[in-house]
Amino acid sequence: MPTNTKRDYYEVLGVSRTATEVELKSAYRKLALQHHPDRNPNDPAAEDKFKECSEAYAVLSDADKRAAYDRFGHAAVNGGGFGGGGFESVDFNDIFGDFFGDIFGGAGGSGRRRNRAQRGNDLREDLSLSFEEAVFGIKKQLKIRRYEACSDCDGIGVAPGKTPITCTACGGRGQTRFQQGFFTVARTCSSCSGAGQIIKDPCTNCKGQGRQLHERTMDVQVPAGVEDGTRIRYSDQGEAGANGGPPGDLYVVLHVKEHDFFEREGNDLYCAIPVSFPQLALGSEITVPTLYGEHKLKVPDGTQPGTRFRIKHKGVPVLNGGNQKGDLYVEVRVQTPSKLTKRQRELLEELNSLSSVENKPNKNLFNKVKDIFG
Ligand SMILES: [Zn+2]
Ligand SMILES: [Zn+2]
Repeated sequence: MPTNTKRDYYEVLGVSRTATEVELKSAYRKLALQHHPDRNPNDPAAEDKFKECSEAYAVLSDADKRAAYDRFGHAAVNGGGFGGGGFESVDFNDIFGDFFGDIFGGAGGSGRRRNRAQRGNDLREDLSLSFEEAVFGIKKQLKIRRYEACSDCDGIGVAPGKTPITCTACGGRGQTRFQQGFFTVARTCSSCSGAGQIIKDPCTNCKGQGRQLHERTMDVQVPAGVEDGTRIRYSDQGEAGANGGPPGDLYVVLHVKEHDFFEREGNDLYCAIPVSFPQLALGSEITVPTLYGEHKLKVPDGTQPGTRFRIKHKGVPVLNGGNQKGDLYVEVRVQTPSKLTKRQRELLEELNSLSSVENKPNKNLFNKVKDIFG
């Protein structure tokens, strides 16, 4: 190709002459994906475009070549293997990583990573608690199933005393490269599935998997004061990592049932106690059930229905808070008797006639209403 018919490399990639490395890479990535032959089968124009942008990127992504190109143009860089068909300078894995492999089926960086040690997955287990168990804490047993590193081979999958051998098909790279027309394509090695190594003597205990499924019963110490949704984390108690990697963590998620009588808000508890009108009017001592036994509450005379009393220190312990506890709030609710004896009815009627005489002209209230409505 004569030099003077070649398009300017910057123009090919659609970037300015001051484009950064990142801008170059991003521009090339877009073009290469658009014109990749795998996406445009039997389309020579697309292949030409692909070659053109790959060549431009190969030169501009190399600082030395870019400098030479900036000074002398195409003539400066065309000698070094770019004129012919053996173009191989672009590292597709570097640019595309797994993305390329996902789209074009197999090539890419995923294979290279497979034999690296990887941290195991975190595990999540659910544990149901009664309201009281959450308040006071409890030790519970939990059955879990998890993959653990094989104890015979330490998770590597190779029989004790043996080592994996390097895959000859890919030379340990996990990928094979082949020429497809003008450029080189990398594919995950089929001999070693990308591991780069082949296990000739698999561990018999785990059949070369390095991990085994185990069912374990573990003790879970639930501290006092936990709430619905609280997570307890156990480091390194998750699944074993691949290829001898560290294990993940185990999270025990707590589910706390509601209480029939108490409602919980943070560390405070709320409840309502039914009382009679005379109890409020005359004052009385009522018995309030708490999580710590019965409590005698003094209700003063003239207490209004709906009044809330605070009983200090009868709430829920503060999680990891030593002796700290929330409070218990008790609301007094007047219960109207649905059935009256004859005597009760007489007394109530008498009371009613008395109080209506006493309270009838509530002057203040009457005047206030008048003020508002004119
Ligand atoms: Zn093993
Ligand atoms: Zn291989």
